Amino acid sequence: MTIAANLGFPRIGADRELKWAVEAAWRTGAFDHLRDTAAELRARHWRLQVDRGIERVPVGDFSYYDHVLDAALAVGAVPARFGGAPFDPDSGSDTDLARYFALARGGTLDGEDRAPLEMTKWLDTNYHYLVPELEADQRFEARPARLVAHLAEATALGVPARVVLVGPITFLGLAKRTDGGDPFELVDAIVPAYVDLVSALRSAGAEHLQFDEPLLVTDADASALAAYPATYAALRDAAGDAEVTLATYFGPLGPNTGLATSLPVDVLHVDLVRGEGQLESVLAARPEGLALSLGVVDGRNVWRSDLEPLVDLVGSVVDRIGPDAVHVAPSCSLLHLPVDLSREGDLDPELRSWLSFATERLDEVRTLARATSDAQTDALAEAAAEVAASAAAAAARRSSTRVHVAAVAERLAGITPDMARRASPYEERREVQDARLRLPSFPTTTIGSFPQTREVRELRRRFRAHEIDDAAYEAGLRRATEACIREQESLGLDVLVHGELERTDMVEHFGEQLDGFATTSNGWVQSYGSRCVKPPVLFGDIVRPAPMTVGWASYAAGLTDRPVKGMLTGPVTILQWSFVRDDQPLATSAFQLALALRDEVADLVAAGIAIVQIDEPALREGLPLRRSEQAAFLAWATESFRLVAGVAPDPVQIHTHMCYAEFGEILDAIVDLDADVISMEASRSRMELLDDVVARGYPNGIGPGIWDIHSPRIPGDDELDDLLARAVAALGPDRLWVNPDCGLKTRGWDETRASLAGLVAAAHRARASVAG
Ligand code: GLN
Ligand code: ZN
Repeated sequence: MTIAANLGFPRIGADRELKWAVEAAWRTGAFDHLRDTAAELRARHWRLQVDRGIERVPVGDFSYYDHVLDAALAVGAVPARFGGAPFDPDSGSDTDLARYFALARGGTLDGEDRAPLEMTKWLDTNYHYLVPELEADQRFEARPARLVAHLAEATALGVPARVVLVGPITFLGLAKRTDGGDPFELVDAIVPAYVDLVSALRSAGAEHLQFDEPLLVTDADASALAAYPATYAALRDAAGDAEVTLATYFGPLGPNTGLATSLPVDVLHVDLVRGEGQLESVLAARPEGLALSLGVVDGRNVWRSDLEPLVDLVGSVVDRIGPDAVHVAPSCSLLHLPVDLSREGDLDPELRSWLSFATERLDEVRTLARATSDAQTDALAEAAAEVAASAAAAAARRSSTRVHVAAVAERLAGITPDMARRASPYEERREVQDARLRLPSFPTTTIGSFPQTREVRELRRRFRAHEIDDAAYEAGLRRATEACIREQESLGLDVLVHGELERTDMVEHFGEQLDGFATTSNGWVQSYGSRCVKPPVLFGDIVRPAPMTVGWASYAAGLTDRPVKGMLTGPVTILQWSFVRDDQPLATSAFQLALALRDEVADLVAAGIAIVQIDEPALREGLPLRRSEQAAFLAWATESFRLVAGVAPDPVQIHTHMCYAEFGEILDAIVDLDADVISMEASRSRMELLDDVVARGYPNGIGPGIWDIHSPRIPGDDELDDLLARAVAALGPDRLWVNPDCGLKTRGWDETRASLAGLVAAAHRARASVAG
């Protein structure tokens, strides 16, 4: 019988229950409600999966904040600067849970102020994990209590549980060592802790284990790959007769196919969506007895699967290796999808019939498993009807007139190379911009958004509930924007922003205004911790029916003598944070979007805006995992950015912004963007990224962030001075900007005011010390 399996389920809840409970716990310091909500969500999601016929239901994928932090705690890897003593977030003690959130968010712990763990993107997704911080002589110790407790909850509910762990080699690949050494040197130390975890889970009755090893689809170093055989031999021993699944996803195994198929596990999960072409090579390398979990429905995008060809595909594998050796599953954990499409009542029915969210993906998995099993006739007939319906939806989408616009294709064909170039080189542009803007050295600015206060959110709620009309909503936003400008003036910032108060989200705002995009009402996906995003759905050719940002930019600019930046989100980021079309190359979508944004820049320039910021915080995360595919991506990504910026004449200063990234490998591309000024996240890693910037010789203006806005801490003067001094030492004083790491929409006004006052004062001190 083909087995229906799942690798992971969204943990936030269809109504973001986890978000609200976590944030309430942070506010009140009381954790009981959070614990209850968490247990309730786990139980609900397990039942939902069981009801849909899933026979391998993930347990351990739930997290209060982040599953990589959980993995670190499961092997006792608590950083020395947090006391080093292992603890368990689910011990039932409030102190332990407070400690857990301190690792994640920073804050005061045992009377001392502590910076949180670094955060970075989970492979090429928009999910952020907390980077495990390991010492050179790190000691590991199994802390199975959390997983054992979750397993007991699931078992009590009769759930066919499969306990999910981040595999040990991938865990080391995600970690960093405080001394800068190679985390893989710690493999001999960490494996015994994993072995103990597995033994404890076995004793607790675990019959199925899943180790996630997405590192196998990357160009991992030989030293990492070499550690796999002995590691998995040890885990196999500890697992006894439990079924062990090795899960790979986000791409094909490629050169690691032989390695992955040779490991002593029972089931190998392969991603046949992003690694579409790898089935034959995996089958060829597969030893007798190794079951394959076929990841055939997309865990990262929302298009409803056309099940017809998939039945053939799965069926052909069943014919070759037998039904008992085949699992059907989503391509990866469903963490990256919204929970439930049936709640999208406002979405037009045609578009809705083209989509699947996490819950619907499970139906697809079940249908495929049934249609390819020697199951009873009832189930088979039902499955056949579902397969036919999915094929009809796919056909309707392919031929829909809503998807293709002839004028867009024509304009795309007319793109010329000079459209993607500024008129003059940076040095010449800088002269005219300096003369126009007359900024001091170390100019201060922010990244764009200001706190979305309770008043602003309430205003929006009332507008949506039709309690106030357009005019009242607009007037309320104008008041809030003016207040934001006045605050910035009194703080003494040099380059102002309008505050983005009219935007719920930097991507959705454009998705709402561009033809070709649809937005959902409840399609939330976890981004980090309690932060969720609602990616728009790009379904058709992109047209800008009207200017999108000019009104607010002009209004704000008219309130003050200081320059106000126009704010756009760049094409790569909009696509990276949307659910994109799967019926044309991403580059084609990017160029369509670039042309629409280019028109927006032209309109901002015509309205007299002197600085335009084009945010590309997702450029790095779009980078393909395999080096061989990176150059092609970077070529179209940078070209699409330059297509947007290239319409700006020399006196208009183009800024860009990036956050949370390892910049080293894309610095050439960043130079290629040829923005006049770039602001980037730098404070959590204490300006580490500047080494790369210096080595590459970044020629243009740059503002490495000196305030970590992802944490509620207000940075001290010493900290700000120290970070700024590091930046001056690395880059000299002439082209440095002073700014926070990122936008401020999630912060409160008190901490924003205090932190920005500190930041402006630090810039003044830097000016004075350079002048002296
Ligand atoms: N301009 C955006 C803001 O300030 C940028 C946010 C981001 O980079 N994620 O919110
Ligand atoms: Zn940012």
